[in-house]
Amino acid sequence: MATVLVIGAGGVSSVCVHKMAFNSEIFTDIHLASRTKSKCDAIAASVKTRCGQEVATYEIDAEEVPAMVNLIRKIQPSLVVNLALPYQDLPIMDACLEAGVSYLDTANYEPKDEAKFEYHWQWAYHDRFKEAGLMALLGSGFDPGVTSVFTMWLKKHKLKTIRQLDILDCNGGDHGQAFATNFNPEINIREVTAPARHWENGAFVETPALSKKVEFDFEAVGPKNMYMMYHEELESLSKFIPELERGRFWMTFGDEYIKHLTVLQNVGMTGIEPIKYQGKEIIPLQFLAAVLPKPETLGETTTGNTNIGVIATGEALDGSGEKTFYINNICSHEAAYEETGNQGVSYTTGVPAMIGSAMMLQGTWAGNGVFNMEQMDPDPFMEMLNEHGLSWNVVEMDAPVGF
Ligand code: NDP
Repeated sequence: MATVLVIGAGGVSSVCVHKMAFNSEIFTDIHLASRTKSKCDAIAASVKTRCGQEVATYEIDAEEVPAMVNLIRKIQPSLVVNLALPYQDLPIMDACLEAGVSYLDTANYEPKDEAKFEYHWQWAYHDRFKEAGLMALLGSGFDPGVTSVFTMWLKKHKLKTIRQLDILDCNGGDHGQAFATNFNPEINIREVTAPARHWENGAFVETPALSKKVEFDFEAVGPKNMYMMYHEELESLSKFIPELERGRFWMTFGDEYIKHLTVLQNVGMTGIEPIKYQGKEIIPLQFLAAVLPKPETLGETTTGNTNIGVIATGEALDGSGEKTFYINNICSHEAAYEETGNQGVSYTTGVPAMIGSAMMLQGTWAGNGVFNMEQMDPDPFMEMLNEHGLSWNVVEMDAPVGF
């Protein structure tokens, strides 16, 4: 018997709650709370239609810690799953500590006034979670999340050391819109417009945003331009793989996306500093996010596949010298929509959030304190990926990446 409280009712939450309901032997009692209750109700109605499970819904501002504590005390869950926005990570962790319940999220904390996402704010909670006998699992989405687990699986089964690591995130989906983001537009644009950073010989090296581009031929998608950018798992991977010489993250963007983003940036629409407009203070990026298509509305029209994976080079475990492995998942947008009513990017994040929750609730992954995915045994998580819609494949490559 496990009661779970999910916070946030966007695309990722919708997938995660559907998947929890499909696995009702693990998630016996599901509660869903968010800022807009009608969105929780819509998810609950879809779940009910698809599998008959009940989901209880609530309205909450997750930044109001006392209200969160009251809600947690009322529901008494074994786990709070934070699928709201990175801004809410710390208040939700505070509420979990006060109410005595474990915590999971998919994205690390980011202050509203600075586009800087880093783990140190959440790592600072380690001792408090440890003393309270609680667990917090950070970054149980796809990237971060599955990419970290893929890497640690290679380290456990194929490579004694990892010298070079490239994470390749390709969305080959077409949503039919001139410009839209596949997850929260504000968070997405803050991430993409930030300077690129990669790990090289013991330090992060910064380069201008979107300045390094490489074409890569992705299985089930075809050739795509991918751009080097900073992504949060580079911080935890470089910490937990101390021998790592170079770690980079790449994401594909179509020319139309880059063209629109460049224009929006040039005219100041991606700014996060408040401006005065008709006597009111507004933040340009928040206004832009409000007029862009909502990610959860893209599912119906999106076609094609995502292909996200990791290429790692290092010394083979079996002593056969240096080897390179590529491990990835291909996810169909249409299949994701058919199963949960959401597109593939929400699916590839919501499924790992469900799996991470299952790992914690079943005690397969356990510990007191704040943990990253890299610190856990990858095997049971990898098994569940295969069983719950995100099967993976690993191949040996002839040579390390040439870019
Ligand atoms: P959405 O914007 O679709 O959903 C966010 C939800 O959080 C909305 O329902 C929103 O409410 C709710 N919310 C926002 N502020 C509050 C608040 N103060 N209190 C309560 N609820 C609040 O985002 P996504 O579903 O696309 O993404 C969810 C999370 O997943 C994000 O943190 C994102 O960064 C992360 N993510 C992680 C990925 C990974 O691979 N690790 C990939 C993609 C996303 P309202 O409906 O009222 O706006």
